[in-house]
Amino acid sequence: MKRKIIIIGSGPAGLTAAIYAARANLEPLVFEGAQPGGQLTITTDVENYPGFPNGIMGPDMMDEFRKQAQRFGAECLFKTVEKVELSERPYTVWADGNEYSAEAIIISTGATAKLLGLESESELMGYGVSACATCDGFFFRDKKVLIVGGGDSAMEEATFLTKFASEVIIIHRRDEFRASKIMVDRVLGNPKISVEWNSAVDEIIGSRDTGVTAIRLTDTVTGEKREMPCDGIFMAIGHVPNTQLFNGTLNLDGAGYIKTEPDSTYTNIKGVFACGDVQDHVYRQAVTAAGTGCMAAIDAERWLEKQNS
Ligand code: NAP
Repeated sequence: MKRKIIIIGSGPAGLTAAIYAARANLEPLVFEGAQPGGQLTITTDVENYPGFPNGIMGPDMMDEFRKQAQRFGAECLFKTVEKVELSERPYTVWADGNEYSAEAIIISTGATAKLLGLESESELMGYGVSACATCDGFFFRDKKVLIVGGGDSAMEEATFLTKFASEVIIIHRRDEFRASKIMVDRVLGNPKISVEWNSAVDEIIGSRDTGVTAIRLTDTVTGEKREMPCDGIFMAIGHVPNTQLFNGTLNLDGAGYIKTEPDSTYTNIKGVFACGDVQDHVYRQAVTAAGTGCMAAIDAERWLEKQNS
């Protein structure tokens, strides 16, 4: 069945687009993807989304977003889009072997956690290496864990891990964090957390039988090498945009984010709009993603109206 709008992705951007599109009677079909609710479903307390003075758990917030979209007629499918065809309208999307088409597409596929790229990291992923403290922190009760990174994610995850771990050490490649001051202060004031500055991870030591037992580090200033025992290591070094589906079709920037026209969510293909972290490498907040999701639905609605007038 042909739809007016298909939305690919279900984080704050996609579900806000769904709320707006549904309220405009566009009956959007939302493909929720591999991580329904997006990155907030692997976070804990969201303290900076306006309207929640006491904070709200990320997964709970995304459930509320979804319910709100469904209340106005959005249809949410827990399926992952495998292929898109954007060369002619209606545009076609394939998921679970089925074909769907729509006059307009809103892309809100978000971004995914970056990894260091070490062989030992992929070998031990799930065996002491993790990219999600909220998912795996529970397994490190009374253990010594490391966090790699110096941004807000690393601060947030380090603080979260102190709920379980006996000791948390942040490994950062420079002598200064890029995280916001409030989060840095919280980390530096936490007696369970310490920082290894100017340190790069060369190797993760361990096996699938023993789990992670240590890491090898290089001092980025002196070049000195050393080993540090630990029970687990969490990567919090940023994200890559989920744009593999659109390579060669949509204009992407050097880092792979979808380029949109200034002050809008228009991509280089008419009727295809992008919102949220997949087109924003600057702000990357739930509230800004929701804002651009709203913009995408309004842009799509107005664009569709023009096609029919
Ligand atoms: P980020 O700000 O890009 O920080 C990534 C950190 O990882 C940087 O400190 C970077 O080091 C380090 N890094 C990157 N590649 C590395 C590598 N190969 N080896 C070692 N270290 C590496 O990413 P983020 O922390 O995920 O945050 C992303 C965005 O989300 C930001 O805008 C942030 O404000 C936002 N965020 C907000 C909250 C919140 O407010 N509650 C929570 C999480 C995230 P350098 O500093 O040397 O580049």
